[in-house]
Amino acid sequence: MTARLLDGKAVAQQMRAELAAEVAALRGRGVVPGLGVLLVGDNPASRVYVTAKERACGDLGLYSSEVRLPASASRDQILDAVGAFNRDERIHGILVQLPLPDASMEPHVLEAMNPAKDVDGFHPVNVGKAVLGLPAFLPCTPHGILQLLRRSGISIAGAHVVVIGRSRIVGRPLATLLSQKGEGGNATVTLCHTATRDLAAHTRRADIVIAAAGRPDTVRADMIREGAVVVDVGMNRVPDPSAPRGYRLIGDVAFDEVREKAAWITPVPGGVGPMTITMLLFNTVAAARGGPSGSP
Ligand code: NAD
Repeated sequence: MTARLLDGKAVAQQMRAELAAEVAALRGRGVVPGLGVLLVGDNPASRVYVTAKERACGDLGLYSSEVRLPASASRDQILDAVGAFNRDERIHGILVQLPLPDASMEPHVLEAMNPAKDVDGFHPVNVGKAVLGLPAFLPCTPHGILQLLRRSGISIAGAHVVVIGRSRIVGRPLATLLSQKGEGGNATVTLCHTATRDLAAHTRRADIVIAAAGRPDTVRADMIREGAVVVDVGMNRVPDPSAPRGYRLIGDVAFDEVREKAAWITPVPGGVGPMTITMLLFNTVAAARGGPSGSP
């Protein structure tokens, strides 16, 4: 079997077309959805992500405003920038690009954000509401994966999903959303991590494997069953002198061998990445409309 591609680029385009109609309607009422972006330091990967997000905002007719602070910025300077975005009526959503140079500041900075503008879904209020199944801004990568599966016609309800990775931004919220009662959930979820004994024993029993470990070759062909759905969240840079930037991106899944066994697989790039940015736009438009809606 050769897997069909779970085409994140195509699904993202479809969602962005839907959002464009909504943005046009909002603009007609005099509301231009606005995203405030805070970038601290000069991490090259963060710069690339921020540029991509701002370009996506521009393409959709959103307003965006960027504040850049040096890596040496104090906690107060960062909190001031967040506070200014909180007060700015043109800004409906705030994105603080993580990681911060000093990761110990992250909880304080996230908590300083107005939860009604927290379009990344990382404020404790939104995390708590999402866990309770209440309307909340959902974190973009997990929400994007749910949309990608659903819009590709893959049924989650009743499926056994194995999630690899328990980070606060991907694995853990994904496991929560997948296991929730209701549309977009109802899966039986196994959450694996670095202390899991015999990862392959779990993944081989899965209908859907979602890899978010941040390590190439975490999922090999002998770790999945024939006909499984494989979602690769990983974005790992490997040196490649022939590539324009001197590196290329690979996922956590050994794509060439796994695609011969899976029924569906996401490419890297072009799978989960475009969905993540799209869900940021989705949340920003929702914030401009007045807040998040119900389930994923
Ligand atoms: P993280 O480093 O915070 O978490 C990785 C998790 O994987 C940890 O919980 C760890 O326990 C687990 N893990 C690592 N190796 C493992 C192994 N061999 N077996 C079982 N568990 C293992 O990373 P993160 O922020 O969750 O990101 C994960 C990957 O996804 C990274 O490559 C990141 O770049 C990528 N990512 C992609 C997008 C996107 O839009 N495509 C968004 C966010 C993150």
